[in-house]
Amino acid sequence: MPHDHHDHPHSLLPSDPALRVKALESLLVAKGLVEPAAMEAILQTYEERVGPHLGAQVVARAWADPAFRDRLLADANAAMAELGISGRQGEHVVAVANSPGQHNMVVCTLCSCYPWPLLGIPPAWYKSDAYRSRAVREPRAVLADFGVTLPEGTGIRVWDSTAEVRYLVIPERPAGTEGWDEVLLATLVTRDSMIGTGLPRKPDAP
Ligand code: FE
Repeated sequence: MPHDHHDHPHSLLPSDPALRVKALESLLVAKGLVEPAAMEAILQTYEERVGPHLGAQVVARAWADPAFRDRLLADANAAMAELGISGRQGEHVVAVANSPGQHNMVVCTLCSCYPWPLLGIPPAWYKSDAYRSRAVREPRAVLADFGVTLPEGTGIRVWDSTAEVRYLVIPERPAGTEGWDEVLLATLVTRDSMIGTGLPRKPDAP
């Protein structure tokens, strides 16, 4: 299966995400491709129901439950389904876990493939030419731009998403969270930490 970037209308739309959504919506409605009510329902789903809190729930479960973590790394979609998470643009998710010597970072060099059911709507920077071209070439510099400095000697593996495979980074569980339950743990999981351009919050951070 080819990468599906040819049908991404990014270049025809304004760069502001809200404007892009509106422009796309108008276009689809004008062409009679969608019913306005159906479109509204889809937008509402992604604005209110689907978002990084779902990915955070998965990561928190992986932190709290080693057996779930194993299942997640072996078959992410099956593990997500245990939590009732599935959906379009998330059919083939692969979870990659950070470790003390290894950091993982996700990009889509061709367009903007992204695990929507876990993380919601991708941030604008994820789709930017700068991120897409630099993530592979100079991941350490990109991380520095995001304010992330990894310990000396930590390797960085960059995963290039496609229409077929979307990646979810499982960051390391922060120290000082012993005994925390999943709900509390999930509050430490940021969207960027699941893309690999960030780290989880520290338990004592404001
Ligand atoms: Fe893509």
